[in-house]
Amino acid sequence: MGTDTFTAPATLSDTQTRVFKNFIDGEWVESATRETFENRNPADSRDLVGIFQKSNKDDVNAAVDAAKRAFAKWRLMPAPRRAEIVFRAAEILIERKEEYARDMTREMGKVLAETRGDVQEAIDCGYYMAGEGRRLFGPTVPSELPNKFAMAVRQPIGVCGMITPWNFPMAISSWKLLPAVVCGNTCVIKPAQDTPLSTFNLVRALTDAGLPKGVINIVSGFGSMVGTPLAEHADVRAISLTGSSEVGRIVGGIAAQTFKHCSLELGGKNPMIVLDDANLDLAIDGGLWGGFGTTGQRCTATSRIIVQKGVYREFVERYVERARKLKIGNGLDETVEMGPAINEKQLQTDLSYVEIGKNEGAKLLCGGNRLDKGEYQYGWFMEPTVFGEVDRKMRIAQEEIFGPVVSIIPCDNLADAIDIANDIPYGLSSALYTKDVNKAFSAIRDLYAGITYINAPTIGAEVHLPFGGTKATGNGHREGGIGAIEFFSEWKSVYVDYSDKLQKAQIDRED
Ligand code: NAD
Repeated sequence: MGTDTFTAPATLSDTQTRVFKNFIDGEWVESATRETFENRNPADSRDLVGIFQKSNKDDVNAAVDAAKRAFAKWRLMPAPRRAEIVFRAAEILIERKEEYARDMTREMGKVLAETRGDVQEAIDCGYYMAGEGRRLFGPTVPSELPNKFAMAVRQPIGVCGMITPWNFPMAISSWKLLPAVVCGNTCVIKPAQDTPLSTFNLVRALTDAGLPKGVINIVSGFGSMVGTPLAEHADVRAISLTGSSEVGRIVGGIAAQTFKHCSLELGGKNPMIVLDDANLDLAIDGGLWGGFGTTGQRCTATSRIIVQKGVYREFVERYVERARKLKIGNGLDETVEMGPAINEKQLQTDLSYVEIGKNEGAKLLCGGNRLDKGEYQYGWFMEPTVFGEVDRKMRIAQEEIFGPVVSIIPCDNLADAIDIANDIPYGLSSALYTKDVNKAFSAIRDLYAGITYINAPTIGAEVHLPFGGTKATGNGHREGGIGAIEFFSEWKSVYVDYSDKLQKAQIDRED
């Protein structure tokens, strides 16, 4: 099977169905199961995006073997040369940005402006990580003994396993794959079953840029059939998962049994605080973008808005008025502002939280209904939904919904707001709207989260700063920036004794 498998239809009316095989050792291979699954457009289930392999443990084993073989050579290629391939891949992604963004909107549902941003994030990550290939800094320190040299160098870990979610199908794959290969590792990636195509597109750019066979292998399929054996495999030395806290607990437990490096980037329930002195126009714009961008399906989504009582009424009125007017539809239509849920299960979860909120006594201010008539009949659509008068302990204020459901919680002052903001199991992103610099810096200090925005919503991370969070959001690692290099490399401390005699550290002292 050649790379023809990847030929994208020029237009949506192209009826040719693309069948994707696993990508192992530079070859396109069928799964050992001989079974496949469909990838359909969540905005229009008549649109079949592709057919993918429903793989199992045998496929994982074959991919890990290939990655292990490739590692022997790849680890010896100088890091700047490895990085040049990543740089070229970023250049290729620029050329294919529109094509890949359209593919992503079809498989994931988010609007074109956002999928272009998703591809752009992979490009940014490529440029950033290409630069890291010329650094990979380690400390050189003076030795405590004479005629002895001391330094630490970064080494690759070996075969890395990666498991990704569906909401940022190319960006998140790039956050994992690009630092991993620059550091000299080889990879087996299992993309989310709802959005495998964007990972194939990213890897296609890398192979077209000259990535040798076996350095990145893709095994498509479902969590327990592919993700679990990947996490369990003895030859996989590092596992990086982005997904729900529930799956994080499983994968983290498996990784601990075999002493793997393990990075978990998990859920969020992100607060945006609006104080009485805030620029309300800005806060409303931010709350809409943070709450309903990506249909609320971001780990960093602004799912709680904590508003000080002096502006609560005005904020709520204006926010709800704007939320009602958001244009819902197929993300391929440039005028659409919010796409569908990723699948029926997620839509049912979103709708179930509407009932939970109502039963808990929160005030449903707008939305709450499924949209399934006319243009919506073939997709997983619902109205943007806002609850007011939410109590911080309600389930809709505590649990990650991952849909277009925003809870507005009144608060007395900044201290009260921070208390409410921190009173959840997660700690990914947070935001504060104020004009008071003292309050801004207090919040930066006191919000217990991995990210804090001032006068911007909880979404909008850039690739060169650490990304991740506290508590149930992860296990202390960070993606993005230097954190990714930290995760995907192994320290080796090196001592070179050129004294020509036996010197004993801590023992050979004059005193
Ligand atoms: P999910 O946890 O259901 O799945 C994530 C991945 O894990 C998928 O590829 C899935 O197939 C795999 N998986 C499922 N069960 C598995 C198992 N038993 N063993 C191994 N792998 C398994 O999450 P999702 O629905 O794809 O994505 C949404 C979740 O991801 C949300 O909770 C969201 O907050 C989180 N997320 C976090 C970040 C972050 O960086 N913190 C970013 C994006 C999404």
